[in-house]
Amino acid sequence: MGLNEIKARVAKAEAAAGRAPGAVTLIAVSKVQPLNRVEAVLEQGHRVFGENRVQEAAGKWPALMERFEGVALHLIGPLQGNKARQAVELFDAIHSVDRLKLAQRLAGLAQERGQCPELFLQVNTGEEPQKAGVPPDEADAFVAQCRALDLPVRGLMCIPPAEEEPSLHFALLAKIAARNGLDGLSMGMSGDFERAIALGATHVRVGSAIFGERAYG
Ligand SMILES: *Cc1c(COP(=O)(O)O)cnc(C)c1O
Repeated sequence: MGLNEIKARVAKAEAAAGRAPGAVTLIAVSKVQPLNRVEAVLEQGHRVFGENRVQEAAGKWPALMERFEGVALHLIGPLQGNKARQAVELFDAIHSVDRLKLAQRLAGLAQERGQCPELFLQVNTGEEPQKAGVPPDEADAFVAQCRALDLPVRGLMCIPPAEEEPSLHFALLAKIAARNGLDGLSMGMSGDFERAIALGATHVRVGSAIFGERAYG
């Protein structure tokens, strides 16, 4: 696979769904990947990347951003309150806002800094105990709370249960977003991004299909 093939598949899925070309942002998930693979994708001109750990991202991206202009970094993994400041300084978007306490912390930082990354609120569509995100029946209230905090809510994000048909979860997330007047949908990974695009994804998070298998994670 690789970047060009995935870009072509994204474009094809956009067209098949009657979406405008470029309607979907391809986030290249570079977590745990060897630096040379990340550099190769940067050299091909790609600029939107996803990481799931603040610490790991802080260790590699500042130097890469000095060498490659215009990089946009998306945090796709869980965010601890004590890493929130570092996260808002490094990332252009945070996909994993999953609790009021974190939203309040981000709102405080937004006030202080006069800016805030784009935020996606994570919904635990499969209601899995080990997974982050608000349960579907609390999502509307959480959107309202985040809006009341004046946070820039771009949309919703989900990670479907590994062993279930993801389309049901993508459709549920799209429905919750629509009834809350949100059009941002962060959903779809290497194995299912085309199905996510068919159901309205605006941001797909693709790692191994671009970079190759990860050693772990
Ligand atoms: C690792 C990760 C991805 C990418 O997974 P692939 O299967 O390699 O495409 C997407 N989203 C999240 C939240 C991840 O942690």
